[in-house]
Amino acid sequence: MTDLTKLTAARTAERIASGETSAVEVAEAHLARVEAVDEKVHAFLHVDREGALETARRVDAKRAAGEKLGPLAGVPLALKDIFTTEGVPTTVGSRILEGWVPPYDATVTRRLKDADVVILGKTNMDEFAMGSSTENSAYGPTGNPWDLTRIPGGSGGGSSAALASFQAPLAIGTDTGGSIRQPAAVTGTVGVKPTYGGVSRYGMVAFSSSLDQGGPCARTVLDAALLHEAIAGHDPLDSTSVDAPVPAVVEAARNGDVRGMRVGVVTEFSGEGYQDGVMRRFTESVELLRELGAEIVEISCPSFTKALAAYYLIAPSECSSNLARFDAMRYGLRVGDDGTRSAEDVTALTREAGFGPEVKRRIMLGTYALSSGYYDAYYGSAQKVRTLITRDFQRAFESVDVLVSPTTPTTAFPIGERADDPMAMYLADLCTIPSNLAGNAAMSLPCGLAPEDGLPVGLQIIAPAMADDRLYRVGAAVEAAFHTRWGHPLLEEAPVL
Ligand code: GLN
Repeated sequence: MTDLTKLTAARTAERIASGETSAVEVAEAHLARVEAVDEKVHAFLHVDREGALETARRVDAKRAAGEKLGPLAGVPLALKDIFTTEGVPTTVGSRILEGWVPPYDATVTRRLKDADVVILGKTNMDEFAMGSSTENSAYGPTGNPWDLTRIPGGSGGGSSAALASFQAPLAIGTDTGGSIRQPAAVTGTVGVKPTYGGVSRYGMVAFSSSLDQGGPCARTVLDAALLHEAIAGHDPLDSTSVDAPVPAVVEAARNGDVRGMRVGVVTEFSGEGYQDGVMRRFTESVELLRELGAEIVEISCPSFTKALAAYYLIAPSECSSNLARFDAMRYGLRVGDDGTRSAEDVTALTREAGFGPEVKRRIMLGTYALSSGYYDAYYGSAQKVRTLITRDFQRAFESVDVLVSPTTPTTAFPIGERADDPMAMYLADLCTIPSNLAGNAAMSLPCGLAPEDGLPVGLQIIAPAMADDRLYRVGAAVEAAFHTRWGHPLLEEAPVL
């Protein structure tokens, strides 16, 4: 009998549409898988069993009535707990929103529902999406299905772990500095940060509004494209949403081809701090691209070396402002409201109890960087660096179609190893952050296992803004070539839980 949890989203949808399998069977198989393994993995913060089965039943009824089903109808999905879901708890991995049940759906949630996607539940994440390991979740860490003692990446570690442990074929993440791509890299899955503004931020709890971008996570490039198409597109409820046609990502994913394309290798993304096995797999990927017919050029983007520093001023600055809304008056937790204290004291006590150490660190950093005496020196300088980074990209894309790099400098590190060392943790996003600062599109896809530890390595592909389709064209070609070389998808080598 076919194991329904091992199928791709594309194949699952085909089977449901043709009547070979019912959507309810598919949902039940995944819920059983969650039941069997998630105690160990801890990908989910909340499983919406009833909601999932109800959607599945509706899909089956639509089919029975002869209605046309969408390309992802009946396919299960794991939703990062940063998107509001009407009637279903949304915590953002924080105590401050524990028990909060939103009265409305995020646009992403709404579009998933409109596409008849079966939302299985909400996934674990670093508190307010601040982190690279999911260890900053107030609800405990998530394990990497390749080795449960290691991190599944962050902040979207619940989503990546759900994919890699076959609890869902699709997931949604958000990427402010790398939180879709880095988890994808360290779990052997595919993750895409669309062009900024490509996917609506309405109902996506804000961390750093000028950087935050929701996007698709999956086990194959085509599945990611199908999901991308389902959630992307203009949304009048988000003023930063791009009012232009969605790039033809599905068509690109079905026509993987790099012949004649110019691919730039970024000089700055190598050297000290990069694990040997990561560089080895990356170099092989570049060779593969050449064999497939791409022209390889070396490109220097000197400002990228300042990206991390600029990010850790801009992101905390925006977060200190965004998180001011958690004041104990409007949502979730309220501490010390015994009738004797002032509103200010209740707010202070609530924020003290409700925010974890990393969130507090960022709020303090941001408040400091924005304070009147330091604004120009810190926030202002960081914005200038941001402009330089954007110009480096512009210059690079004058001579190449896409850029490539390793997604992360290392493979998944052990849980606990960097937990008390913020700087070491921040380095995980060295290669992903420039694209958030510039707002362009980028993908991570598996390119093999590092020989020294047997853990997945991610290849990052970067495209200009609104050229998201290029990611899929290149990604699909690379993926097909790797699958032929390996004889199977990478995840088939993952230890079965
Ligand atoms: N790891 C980065 C941070 O902690 C990026 C997080 C993200 O993309 N949400 O800010």
